[in-house]
Amino acid sequence: MRSVVWTLGLVLLLANCRSNVLERRTVLLMDTYVTVQACGPRAAAKQAIQAALKRLEEIDQRFSAHDSLSPVYRFNCEERPLEDSEVVALVQAAVEVSEATGGAFDVTVEPLVRLWGFYGEHPAVPGQSVIDSVMKHVGSRNLVFENGRVRKLDPNARIDLGGIAKGYALAQAAQAMRHAGVDSGLIDAGGDVYAFGRRAGRAWRVGVRSPRGDSMVGVLEVRNLAVVTSGDYERFFVSGESRYCHIIDPRTGWPAQGVASVTAVARDPALADAWATAGFVLGPDVVELAARHGVEMLVLTDRMERFASSGFDRLDVRHPESDTGPRGARRTRKTGCPG
Ligand code: AMP
Ligand code: MG
Repeated sequence: MRSVVWTLGLVLLLANCRSNVLERRTVLLMDTYVTVQACGPRAAAKQAIQAALKRLEEIDQRFSAHDSLSPVYRFNCEERPLEDSEVVALVQAAVEVSEATGGAFDVTVEPLVRLWGFYGEHPAVPGQSVIDSVMKHVGSRNLVFENGRVRKLDPNARIDLGGIAKGYALAQAAQAMRHAGVDSGLIDAGGDVYAFGRRAGRAWRVGVRSPRGDSMVGVLEVRNLAVVTSGDYERFFVSGESRYCHIIDPRTGWPAQGVASVTAVARDPALADAWATAGFVLGPDVVELAARHGVEMLVLTDRMERFASSGFDRLDVRHPESDTGPRGARRTRKTGCPG
């Protein structure tokens, strides 16, 4: 009897493995190319990808600061409190990161991003007196949370969730995929990645791109983890001798300087996203602080100096002291997924 159960189990396992496929789709969404991969039975994998893309579209619309129908736009431009519970929850999470980072991450930075022209085609250095006057409307102290809503203390305060919403979108897309019945997948939104489950019995591998050129500065083996990067190459302009990028230090009103890229790894993709942006403002000192908050980090300065947490290096299969090493010999179990 026991052997029959064993045989039946083995047959079912093999059938399941063979029926697993890796489905993949790339679309233009959230101002970038988004690739969703799902590993599982073909029908479930296709359905999971559809569910993920639908969820990403919804989030893109809901969290946009530019779409006049979005709750964020209405909060910014009309005298109304923020009531959408999903947006309120993300603003709350953002404020917690602000508090943990001494205000380096701050979603109320919008008026400064606007002043520097990063929403338009022609960013430029504004005068210091204008920066000073705009700074008065920046700071999470201008937001009050009450009865599940957010109210502004300063009518000129505005929020921009661009530093955290993409991470949140990754988390939501993964959840939609799991609900659709796949237990392995990867979502890549312009280089910001969340990977869950295993691919062909192995952890997913995510490359970390160099901020200068096309080479890789690391290859991470991840499972149920987000890998999110903020870089000075994403949006910037050069004026005189200086390069100014789209991440503003809310404490000075000027674009953050000295860092070329920050890669943050965390279980919660929204947290990884927010901390990558904060890390860009704080520079190498952020690495230890982030690790204390469950975020592993790599900071590359504009002189290409490397600062990484030990947890980050352990995930990096190319790092000499990594536990796994470049051999990858641990991975043996196979499923029907290609690759
Ligand atoms: P990311 O690419 O995730 O680092 O996000 C950058 C975007 O976040 C910018 O384009 C701005 O919309 C917004 N942002 C800029 N500076 C900050 C900051 N210090 N804190 C929070 N969001 C910011
Ligand atoms: Mg970010």
